[in-house]
Formats: sequence, C-alpha cells, structure tokens
Amino acid sequence: MSDCLFCKIAAGEIPAEKVYEDDDVIAFNDINPQAPTHVLIIPKSHIATTNDIAPEDEKVVGKLLTTAAKIAKDRGIDASGYRSVMNCNADAGQMVFHVHLHMLGGRKMSWPPG
Ligand code: AMP
Ligand code: ZN
Repeated sequence: MSDCLFCKIAAGEIPAEKVYEDDDVIAFNDINPQAPTHVLIIPKSHIATTNDIAPEDEKVVGKLLTTAAKIAKDRGIDASGYRSVMNCNADAGQMVFHVHLHMLGGRKMSWPPG
C-alpha cells in the first residue's frame, strides 16, 4: 500500500524508533506514548483492520502477541503486566489503517478503557 504510513515505516521510508524486527513483524515506539512503554507491533504485510485478517494471516497476527511478550520480558514488565490493544474502525478510535498491536506497560492501568 503506497499511501500507508505503517507500510512506509516497515519499508524504512519513514523513520521510527525501532525496537524489534524480523521477517514478519516490526515493532517501534509510539510517537505519542500513553505509558512508559508504548510500542506498536505491526505485520510487515498490509492488513487494514482486524476485520480484514484472512486465514493465511493468522500466524503473523499471533506473532504480534508473542513479540509483545518478548518486548515485555526484555523490559522487565512481563510479570508486573502490560496491556495489548488492537483498535478497529471508528468506535474504537482506529487512526492508522494498518493492523497494529499497542503494547502498553510500565504503569498501573484502569478498566474499563475510555
Ligand atoms: P490507532 O488509533 O489504534 O490507529 O493508533 C495509531 C497510533 O499510531 C497512535 O497511538 C499514534 O500515536 C501512532 N502513530 C501515528 N503516527 C506515528 C508515527 N509516525 N510513528 C509512531 N507512531 C505513530
Ligand atoms: Zn500498510
């Protein structure tokens, strides 16, 4: 997707504070962090929303969560806890239409979310 911000970050065309990368996913710091740790983990392939996840994408989407756990362990917040969020469409406040997992941690969070 030539006009997708996160495709451009995945391709290295737009800079980001990368914290992890492999063949399938890339993780980078959110530009407007909502917690001491706020990392976005994205598939390198373009998927617009969670409604568009196809059966062949299930493996890479699962990898978003295992990557979040890896980053949490690296930062020593795996035991204290963290939150994983994927916003879908307007009511959830999705702003970037390339699937991404928000991994937030390093502070106590409330529930329900706003
Ligand atoms: P969402 O509302 O779930 O679509 O979240 C999009 C997230 O992307 C927001 O938390 C933004 O702060 C973040 N964001 C937008 N542009 C950038 C960027 N260039 N680099 C890093 N994070 C970004
Ligand atoms: Zn994209």
